[in-house]
Amino acid sequence: MDKLNSTLTAVKNLRSNVRQCFEHLADGTDGEGGEESRNKFVHDFQERFGAINSQLREVEQLINGLQVPPTPYSLGNTAYLAQETSQDRQALYPQLVNSYKWIDKVHDHSFLAFNNLNQNTLRRSYNYCSQKRQRLPFSSFNNDPDHIDKLLSEINTPPHTSYRIFRPFGTNAVAIVTISNVMKAAIVFKGVLIEWVTVKGFDEPLEHDDLWAESRYEVFRKVQEHAHSAMLHFFSPTLPDLAVKSYVTWLNSHIKLFLEPCKRCGKFVVHGLPPTWRDLRTLEPFHEDCRNC
Ligand SMILES: [Zn+2]
Repeated sequence: MDKLNSTLTAVKNLRSNVRQCFEHLADGTDGEGGEESRNKFVHDFQERFGAINSQLREVEQLINGLQVPPTPYSLGNTAYLAQETSQDRQALYPQLVNSYKWIDKVHDHSFLAFNNLNQNTLRRSYNYCSQKRQRLPFSSFNNDPDHIDKLLSEINTPPHTSYRIFRPFGTNAVAIVTISNVMKAAIVFKGVLIEWVTVKGFDEPLEHDDLWAESRYEVFRKVQEHAHSAMLHFFSPTLPDLAVKSYVTWLNSHIKLFLEPCKRCGKFVVHGLPPTWRDLRTLEPFHEDCRNC
């Protein structure tokens, strides 16, 4: 043990001397003394270099003198670390629960994706999904034509909001929501899930043949951008009715798009735009830049 200690000390000294030598080199000469100071600098360096060389030899000798210990070193209490069996102390349980939740989510989503892809009626190839593996479809694929009408009529909306529902894609509905004299939004449904939203100004046409065209006003293009992120936020395949209701309620909060100042900065117009973002929970208006401050 003594030998090991003295070897470690020698290694430490060697490291510190090498470091000092490099520091000395990095500092260089003061640049004013001319020939004399340069000579002194070189001489100093040679001395330090010589010391390092002799220390290196010393370390080599010490290492050669070391022997493999006959018995393992006693590590004290740290040796018991590997034998810890108590679950509380290992902190494994929360991680396990988290992984389980993730696997559950992945399973749900892959099942939904599988169902969705299988609904492609244009596919000519044989149906490779055996009857045994088919399960009852999720409620989010409930294509009952009256369901959306009923759902939208149940939402408490301000009196100036109106809905018009039509079905250009067979059973899937498209709802045109007109919010006062401010804006229109086309909500494209797939079953009860919201697939797409187009937002336009009140004076712009929004019919089944131009559902995908963007508004010519920047403000409504910005609102549409936010409407898409809100669509993802409210998306819930397990509670689709609630998701639609929450989303439409959120959309209706744009009724005062040009009348309310930003909750953060108190201004009506920033960079030429009114507060286009509505908080997902409180429905308060914010400018795009102010919402994250
Ligand atoms: Zn603001």
